[in-house]
Amino acid sequence: MAATRGTLTIGPVTAAPGSVASGALQVPARAGDAGTTIPITIIHGASPGPVLALVAGVHGMEYVPVIALQRLRAALDPATLRGTIVMVHVANMPSFLGRTIYYSPVDGQNLNRVFPGRPDGTLSERIADVLTREIIARATHVIDLHGGDGNESLRPYLYWITTGDPSVADASRGVALAFGLDHIVVDDERPTEAAASMYLSNTAITRGKPAITVETGCLARIDEASLALVARGVAGVLRHLDMRDEGPAPVADPIWLTRNVVIRAGGTGLFYPSVHCGDVVAEGAGLGRVTDFHGRVVEDIHAPLGGEVLYVVATPPVTKGEPLAMVAATGRTPDARPSRP
Ligand SMILES: [Zn+2]
Repeated sequence: MAATRGTLTIGPVTAAPGSVASGALQVPARAGDAGTTIPITIIHGASPGPVLALVAGVHGMEYVPVIALQRLRAALDPATLRGTIVMVHVANMPSFLGRTIYYSPVDGQNLNRVFPGRPDGTLSERIADVLTREIIARATHVIDLHGGDGNESLRPYLYWITTGDPSVADASRGVALAFGLDHIVVDDERPTEAAASMYLSNTAITRGKPAITVETGCLARIDEASLALVARGVAGVLRHLDMRDEGPAPVADPIWLTRNVVIRAGGTGLFYPSVHCGDVVAEGAGLGRVTDFHGRVVEDIHAPLGGEVLYVVATPPVTKGEPLAMVAATGRTPDARPSRP
């Protein structure tokens, strides 16, 4: 006799096997703020399998993943799905509705630096806490979908986190390849403590769940090519996890970006970039200039590493310490590294 598959309930949303249900998680008000909501969808497959969480909108002006998930919600068929997809349509509603890059308009925090969050903290910390307890805790695999924020000109790439449990890193590598983007940043600098995971995908990894962070879309624009990358990526992961029969094959020959540097502003003012995303630059090459508010050049920005420009800030405002660009390069292949204990 086949096992009976149960319903899945997350917050106020309950989905029966073979059905789709949507609703919103509540982040209650506390002294000083009004709380917020987190719209979610459960696509509960008719038969058992992995629970894949797809999270969009951690940053407020990264729209491609938000639109891509709306399309996927309409396109995915729970009758033929093995396992469950949990979508977070807009993780950071205050920043989305406030149209802010990086930081919440309510508390000034970057949601993707405050994980796993706190139930009695700032609004960003409470959003992180709800996402950790309600979404990541229930998932077996997590994809955090980002893109070029409102100020970032960005070429598509994803992060494969290698820190922590090697078996989790290995499984994350499979998800990364299945997503299909051919530029993969090998990230070996994330915290390994579950209580100080900082980032959403790292919150999953430090809890034993394979995860990746994906970057598609540029300067808050919504374009069909970027939307197609997300759709293709999710379809590839669904096939890889055996949640569907069909789907594109993993990327065959990715570029493993084993070295990267984020170049940050030394002062506050205006940034005039001299490169575009996707440009290949030599070590020491100029990336742009920072001026003060009167137009005097206060800083010439150079690439400390030769490589490809994955993103570059393409709108004028810059604040001391914030990123101006990210340059990444190939080095060792990850297959060649010694296995860690
Ligand atoms: Zn982001």
